[in-house]
Amino acid sequence: MHHPTLMKNYGPPAFDAVRGEGVYLYDSIGKRYLDFGSGIAVTSVGHSHPKWVKAVQDQAATLSHCSNLYGIPGQQKLADRLVQKAGPGRVLFCNSGAESNDALIKLARLHGRNLSGGEEAKRYSVVAAEDAFHGRTFGGMAATPQEKIQGGFRPMLAGFKFGQLNNIESFDKLVDDTVAAVFIESIQGEGGIFPAEDSFLQELRALCTERGALLMLDEVQCGIGRSGHFFAFEKSGVKPDAIGMAKGLGAGFPIGAIWAAEPYAELFQPGSHGTTFGGNPLACAAANATLDIIEEDSLLEHITANSKIWHAALQGLVEQYPQHIASMRGVGYMVGLALHADSSAVTTAARDKGLLIVPAGHNTIRLLPALTATLEELAAGTRILGKVFAELSA
Ligand SMILES: *Cc1c(COP(=O)(O)O)cnc(C)c1O
Repeated sequence: MHHPTLMKNYGPPAFDAVRGEGVYLYDSIGKRYLDFGSGIAVTSVGHSHPKWVKAVQDQAATLSHCSNLYGIPGQQKLADRLVQKAGPGRVLFCNSGAESNDALIKLARLHGRNLSGGEEAKRYSVVAAEDAFHGRTFGGMAATPQEKIQGGFRPMLAGFKFGQLNNIESFDKLVDDTVAAVFIESIQGEGGIFPAEDSFLQELRALCTERGALLMLDEVQCGIGRSGHFFAFEKSGVKPDAIGMAKGLGAGFPIGAIWAAEPYAELFQPGSHGTTFGGNPLACAAANATLDIIEEDSLLEHITANSKIWHAALQGLVEQYPQHIASMRGVGYMVGLALHADSSAVTTAARDKGLLIVPAGHNTIRLLPALTATLEELAAGTRILGKVFAELSA
């Protein structure tokens, strides 16, 4: 049932969540769930990780907010760390994935103006992908060509065109002299876990360089370690011009960020963009603690090693239950099982058995465990899924 004073933009909840610990979430009647949704790829170091809790508590007791009128040491440190990972450039902080993407779209507009000799509204198009998801703001919606996202909210922001992920010819046709940027998810999340192929990213990089368009990658869901690399595009060897981040960055504290390479990082100048909350001391303390945990606990290596075994076990389910599961897709701790039918029966049955998973496009269920999840915890999730498919087959 919907709460009487909350708007009904989300479905009615199945339970009230009150506590989390590691990979487990507890509801208000004390039932424990293995959480393979992680608040939609957010609680990257698990719920209430002691180091994260201490960092947030200490910062809250010291200084939570001061605005960007003043320098924020934790923000500077976090920017240094992201630049170290992404490459020479600069970082701008905001509060969510959609806001990151709006900032990227604004960056593309400034780039387009420069390409047009300072003239505005001439070269401003952005080429994104069909089946993409970039968020619910007017910028994010415009880049998300799904009726369920855009319906009721038209007219959309102008200047968006759509190619097919992993089809370089479709982008080749669209990237003309009206285009300021190409913008795609390195791994499509909401669309159903579709990774951009390495060769596609490499060809897209070459295409963008040749035509002067920025290559902007949305790493809001797949970034910050989830793929087993800090950024999911890394394994392709491609260097993008700009990156959007959010979900896993604060591990439960809202924070978003964009990174842009030099010289594009200089496009934003005093007054050109900003947010009151963006990169405040509390958010940056949470994000710095998250990066500390990823580094100190060698979580990238942990994910790379564990996911081989986990993926093989999930592939076993695909082979055991071909009447229900069409295929497994994904990288690291970001996996989708494509089903033959709507995913809601599986999601509900898994929840009843104590496993939380997230539906995605194209009849897919998404498995997004905390980056800290152990092999035993991954195996426990696979066992519950096995029971769900066994019962569906009975
Ligand atoms: C979730 C998501 C967004 C939107 O992030 P919000 O924080 O919900 O605004 C944008 N892009 C991708 C790839 C996402 O997964």
